[in-house]
Amino acid sequence: MTVAIGVLALQGDFREHLLMLESVGAHGVEVRTPQDLDAVEGLIIPGGESTTIGRLATMFGLIEPIRQRCSKGMPVFGTCAGMIFLATSTVGKEQPQLGVLDACVERNAFGRQVDSFEADLDVVGLQEPMHAVFIRAPWIEKIGADVEVLASVTDANGLHHPVLVRQGRILASSFHPELTDDARLHKMFIDLVEGA
Ligand code: GLN
Repeated sequence: MTVAIGVLALQGDFREHLLMLESVGAHGVEVRTPQDLDAVEGLIIPGGESTTIGRLATMFGLIEPIRQRCSKGMPVFGTCAGMIFLATSTVGKEQPQLGVLDACVERNAFGRQVDSFEADLDVVGLQEPMHAVFIRAPWIEKIGADVEVLASVTDANGLHHPVLVRQGRILASSFHPELTDDARLHKMFIDLVEGA
């Protein structure tokens, strides 16, 4: 049986996630309402603009339903803005967040000069490095004890910043696997959903 995997389709690059799911034979479904959410077994939150995603999710009455599904064990995977939306706080101004990922994120952490860049990342659990695309990306500033770091980047001062983390059935990346043809993180997530 193929499980239905929801992709939050309010703003951002949700189409790319749906195409990625299709490419690996998974069944992706657009989620815009609490009713849509009821029909899926897992949820991907795409990249885009996290304050806009947060505002629209509030308007569409999705914040509490997503939190409740997460507390009942629904797997979620947030990429870039999706990671910010999953987290408990951001460095600086408050914005609507789900608060299910025990992490404080810094938005646009790589600075204004480097809007976007690509890097090969070593990822815990993957044999080969992953080619990662960062676009106005956040990194994680602080994590809770239950959060496992699967990949990080090193800044100019030699400090490591997590860019891929897992907390139980929550997966979050600063970068955009949906913009490459590397489906390994999506497969990892599909395994989480099928195992849930
Ligand atoms: N900079 C965006 C934000 O803070 C995230 C960018 C992205 O998702 N590519 O919401």
